[in-house]
Amino acid sequence: MPTYKAPLRDIKFVMTELLEAGPQLASLPFYQDNDTADLDLITQVMEEAARFVETEVQPLNQIGDREGCVRDEHGEVKTPTGFKAAYKKFCDAGWPALDADPQYGGQGMPHLVSMTLNEMLNSASVAWGMYPGLSHGAYSALHAVGSDELKNLYLPKIVSGQWSGTMCLTEPHAGTDLGIIRTKASDNGDGTYNITGTKIFISAGEHDLTENIVHLVLARLDGSPEGTKGISLFLVPKFIPNADGSVGERNAVVCGSLEHKMGIHGNATAVLNFDQAKGWLVGEINKGMNHMFIMMNAARLGTGLQGLGLGEVSYQNALAYAKDRLQMRHEPRVLPSENADPILVHPDVRRMLLTGKAYNEAGRALAMWLALSLDVEHHHPDEAKRKEAGDLVALLTPVAKAFMTDNGFQTAVLSQQVFGGHGYIQEWGMEQFVRDARIGQIYEGTNGIQSLDLLGRKVLMDGGKKLQKLAGTLQEFAESHEDDEHIGDYVNQLGKAAQQLGSLTMVIGQKAMSGPEGADEVNAAAVDYLRFFGHVVYGYLWARMAKIAQEKIDAGQDRDGFYLSKVQTAKFYFAKLFPETKALAATIKAGNESLAVDDKAVFGWEQGLVTA
Ligand SMILES: Cc1cc2nc3c(=O)[nH]c(=O)nc-3n(C[C@H](O)[C@H](O)[C@H](O)COP(=O)(O)OP(=O)(O)OC[C@H]3O[C@@H](n4cnc5c(N)ncnc54)[C@H](O)[C@@H]3O)c2cc1C
Repeated sequence: MPTYKAPLRDIKFVMTELLEAGPQLASLPFYQDNDTADLDLITQVMEEAARFVETEVQPLNQIGDREGCVRDEHGEVKTPTGFKAAYKKFCDAGWPALDADPQYGGQGMPHLVSMTLNEMLNSASVAWGMYPGLSHGAYSALHAVGSDELKNLYLPKIVSGQWSGTMCLTEPHAGTDLGIIRTKASDNGDGTYNITGTKIFISAGEHDLTENIVHLVLARLDGSPEGTKGISLFLVPKFIPNADGSVGERNAVVCGSLEHKMGIHGNATAVLNFDQAKGWLVGEINKGMNHMFIMMNAARLGTGLQGLGLGEVSYQNALAYAKDRLQMRHEPRVLPSENADPILVHPDVRRMLLTGKAYNEAGRALAMWLALSLDVEHHHPDEAKRKEAGDLVALLTPVAKAFMTDNGFQTAVLSQQVFGGHGYIQEWGMEQFVRDARIGQIYEGTNGIQSLDLLGRKVLMDGGKKLQKLAGTLQEFAESHEDDEHIGDYVNQLGKAAQQLGSLTMVIGQKAMSGPEGADEVNAAAVDYLRFFGHVVYGYLWARMAKIAQEKIDAGQDRDGFYLSKVQTAKFYFAKLFPETKALAATIKAGNESLAVDDKAVFGWEQGLVTA
């Protein structure tokens, strides 16, 4: 049976030493006013979160996988044994309200804290954690663009966890391409709308954890234009609330079926049929995509954290197993009295473990950096600082989503590999981590689509401004440490890669503007570009972490070997993982040419491309 211990020591290192969160939070009046900026308080909350997650949520993970969710003939869904009781305790302890607005019953804690709770929940049970995760996304969108009337009625219930939320975008024929959705909305003339259509793959779309479910639904209002410009966002509750907030009449939205899927069995993935269901407009007519992006951006970071959470828990279990499992002799011997040594001695096993450790710790640093940037973006008194932080979050959100879920899946597979055949059978729980990690690369916009978002929207359409700002920070760090005895080699590699990122961007940008094939050139380069970008960001974070750790070692402050572990993991990262950038640079430069094969000869596809 797998185990999990929240990595509190590392979380504290990132928070206090890498990000120096104390002074940053102290400069944000919102947290000062709410008395939530104090790092001692934050640490206590994180410790309590770890206790809750380790004891209440983690034991449910395998049960959830085995039992899955069950739908009855009326469309009601039962979650696995123990899910409901743990959810009640979660709400009773106030966890859903952690970073929510005090005006609606929230505790007003920094995002830094809720991001950490999320990582822990994802390590313990992604399937369980998705229920409050989706609610949090719905909270964010409603809080940002909902009318006061909607906010006053719904937010306190969502913040307390009494009601949960969903995001309803996908339809059978429309996943990536939301511009072609068919769900319709018609105006009843009394402030309400009738919503009709079918949404599929809706996470937490139906379940028994809460008394009401608040669906945020994309639909096209009668008369609105085709494409994404004609989509609006509607709130459609499962039960229509009475004016006093109690649960009223059942609305016409029913769960038609549940998907049978590869992983996250404990989370209900529902087909929802809306049949003239009563809904309320959220935000402005035809601005639904923009509004939904608030929820999607939160969900993208949340998905990145799923990659991190699963990477962390699978690494922890693989490490414990590698210390215990005796196979083959090693010279020199570790256990002379036994006929074999622990597999942890073999360099290839160390490679697998260190890969996971290096990705996990850099991923945690990135996630917490973004969380703190979100705090600055939302609450800094200086508009320029808010914009700077917002730009960084916008630029790095697709990187966090895709790079962290790709690395999380890779780590889950490598950790499974450490178990040999025992990783493939159910008993040890490793195959569940692999199955659960796979979806992170697919939903919330596939990682291919995240890459297009990064390269197309966030870099090229922006004229490279956000990228230049980040690259400037990296170059400055690299230049000021190039003679450093310990990290000089790392920043050298980093500086070159940051420069190369700029030149690769220019090459792709020029190809993009070179004619009708330009879009295909961007499309062909995007996935490799995002991976290159991810390594540059992780390289920056690893070099900084190594620098801080080395200073502690030099000052004789490494009592438990924590800082030595950082320094040596950084060394591994730059020796074994960062050089992937060299191969990526070559594949990025290779462009679309080798992909533009003859459709008939290679794919047996008669139809082929039609020239516009
Ligand atoms: C378990 C699960 C839970 C989910 N939860 C939710 C939810 O809560 N709410 C919700 O609304 N949806 C949800 N989804 C849907 C999910 O977000 C979509 O599956 C995803 O966005 C991809 O859409 P699709 O499956 O239709 O694939 P498609 O859009 O058909 O894409 C197929 C492939 O083509 C690629 N592709 C498409 N267009 C391009 C392009 N222009 N350039 C390059 N490649 C392209 C894609 O990257 C992908 O690899 C969930 C899905 C699953 C499986």
